[in-house]
Amino acid sequence: MFKERVQKISVDAGLTCPNRDGKLSGTGCIYCNSKGSGTNASARGLSIKEQIEAGKIGARIKYKAKKFLAYFQSYTNTYTSCAHMKEIFDEALSCDGVVGMAIGTRPDCIDPEKLDLLEAYARDFLVWLEYGLQSIHDETLKRINRGHTFQDFLDAVDMTKGRGIHICTHVILGLPGEDRAMMMETADRLARAGINGIKLHLLYVIRGTPLDEIYLNGEYTCLEQEEYVNLVCDFIERLPKDMIIQRITGDPHSDELRAPDWAARYRQTFNMIQHAMEERDSFQGKKFKP
Ligand code: SF4
Repeated sequence: MFKERVQKISVDAGLTCPNRDGKLSGTGCIYCNSKGSGTNASARGLSIKEQIEAGKIGARIKYKAKKFLAYFQSYTNTYTSCAHMKEIFDEALSCDGVVGMAIGTRPDCIDPEKLDLLEAYARDFLVWLEYGLQSIHDETLKRINRGHTFQDFLDAVDMTKGRGIHICTHVILGLPGEDRAMMMETADRLARAGINGIKLHLLYVIRGTPLDEIYLNGEYTCLEQEEYVNLVCDFIERLPKDMIIQRITGDPHSDELRAPDWAARYRQTFNMIQHAMEERDSFQGKKFKP
């Protein structure tokens, strides 16, 4: 599409999330820290333009990138008015070299009016809408305090399809109460959900989160590294060949990480997955059930 590297730059638009501001639970998903999985740049007073310009410097040095995607990562980036969404997205897309956006949100924070706005951007720019789901199992979503159901996700995907917007979904492996069979059910179901991309994350424990308390009480055991590697390979085999896998593990800040230790060794886990795929003669689509 762009015939060259396009580098994502994380942007914090200073928004919040209905699962944190009291509209839903007020305490957030059990694994989420107060930064809402983001950079906190807005709280430090940086405008969207300033964040993108700062991000470009590193992306140019490290990757020689000349084109960029603004990645609205922190909190829920459609949890505001359409007018405000337009303001922040216009600001990002007006930056030199920005060819599109990836917008992180929740399935219960989207509606046709917001999608109309994103559809209009998608005519001229690459637009990815990233829905946090984590699991297809409602009992798990309840346990981790997501505040939405799997049906909410299916409804959001239905509303989004056919508008030129690319749909990505986030999944977490190793959620409390989930065994391998449940995680594979998530893979099989999402393989047929009509989404374009997926991000796989490891559940790790961040200090100060509700999950931290559960972990310290001995009520949650983290996945072992080998176990995670095999789960990722199994998961990938079940996905259709044309689904874009955007992430295969998380990358926590080591100063915030409680456990497991190996979660901080992102590159090692990445290499282990690659090696295991080769050893097992695994490939994406090997066990895809249309
Ligand atoms: S939806 Fe996202 S930002 Fe909101 S509490 Fe959950 S992980 Fe945090």
